[in-house]
Amino acid sequence: MTCIPKKEILQKMIETDILIIGAGPTGLFAVFEAGLLKLKCHIIDGLPQPGGQLTELYPKKPIFDIPGFPSVLAGDLVNNLMEQIKQFQPGFTLNEVAETIEKQEDGSFIVTTNKGTQHHAKAIAIAGGLGSFEPRKPILKDLEFYEIEDRGVEYFVKDPEKFRGKKVVISGGGDSALDWSVFLADVASEVTLVHRRNEFRGALDSVEKVQELKKAGKIRLITPGEVIGFKGNERITSVDIEINGARTNVECDYFIPLFGLTPKLGPIAHWGLEIEKNAIKVNNALDYQTNIPGIYAIGDVNTYPGKLKLILCGFHEATLMCQSVYQMMNPGKKFVMKYTTVSGIDGFDGSRKEAEKAVVKSIE
Ligand SMILES: Cc1cc2nc3c(=O)[nH]c(=O)nc-3n(C[C@H](O)[C@H](O)[C@H](O)COP(=O)(O)OP(=O)(O)OC[C@H]3O[C@@H](n4cnc5c(N)ncnc54)[C@H](O)[C@@H]3O)c2cc1C
Repeated sequence: MTCIPKKEILQKMIETDILIIGAGPTGLFAVFEAGLLKLKCHIIDGLPQPGGQLTELYPKKPIFDIPGFPSVLAGDLVNNLMEQIKQFQPGFTLNEVAETIEKQEDGSFIVTTNKGTQHHAKAIAIAGGLGSFEPRKPILKDLEFYEIEDRGVEYFVKDPEKFRGKKVVISGGGDSALDWSVFLADVASEVTLVHRRNEFRGALDSVEKVQELKKAGKIRLITPGEVIGFKGNERITSVDIEINGARTNVECDYFIPLFGLTPKLGPIAHWGLEIEKNAIKVNNALDYQTNIPGIYAIGDVNTYPGKLKLILCGFHEATLMCQSVYQMMNPGKKFVMKYTTVSGIDGFDGSRKEAEKAVVKSIE
């Protein structure tokens, strides 16, 4: 990490108190805790939507160990967290990976993404979970050629409109492959779902929807089958599929392999932080700060003795991190912790949600 003088800070820059890297549950809840302390947050995430593992890996699975929720779907928990932080108006830089960090002379930081967006913050909270997710790719000849410059191979459905009226082949047997096949059946002109087994590893209702759409002629299902090659010069025009040793060819504009995502700590691994077994070492006795003052690591991304990679642990770590940033930004200022039931919540939009006052006992 380099240290550059503050005067070199560029003009067009996103300014914030805490820059949170990772929009998983930990990063989202950190916005709420920071908001209670009147600290402004901005979040960067490499994925196109917030929610981290919950949205990307298991949105329809119920979670049973969130205090106060006997059961909550992962996707609903993310929606609730987004609703809870709306009042604090966090900024989002989505679909961009935090790549480099520069410490300024005044102790603040500039973080630049892979797309060149710059963020200037007084403190950094890395809530990067297991790291930035990278798609698992099939081993296919010429894949590198077709996966760039809109030549036909896509690993994410970032904008479903891109596939409107197009012929799409989706490959995979999990929730993503099932859910996008169902969704795109109403958008694309043709959807073919190819999976190398007859059984799918997805939510039952998604499997049933695919079956219904197959019967209605809106999805062509090829199982057990495997995409083994491409045809097309400038871009894909069709894929070759092997079915029980035989070969067939299916015309398509897009091939979307959805084989899951592998997490990698990614660029953060080169920021000079102390790393142990692919996780960032933090001071858990105090505030989850890393070996670089002003940079914190919270949630699944950190490690310390007794660490548990659970959502509720991330919430706790986010809370203590915010208190520490508050102290750092207001040295010497006495902080009096107040319950939200007593203090209410001041939204950044100026709205004040008062805690209801009730007389429980009259004073004689
Ligand atoms: C199938 C499954 C079931 C689970 N069930 C439970 C359960 O029942 N209860 C429970 O408590 N936990 C459960 N977990 C674990 C739980 O999902 C994690 O503890 C939780 O997601 C951690 O949240 P996080 O915000 O720390 O990280 P994550 O959810 O991993 O989010 C991190 C985010 O950071 C982003 N990111 C990383 N690096 C960068 C970068 N350089 N630039 C930009 N963005 C970046 C990633 O894209 C990601 O969106 C489960 C996990 C799985 C896989």
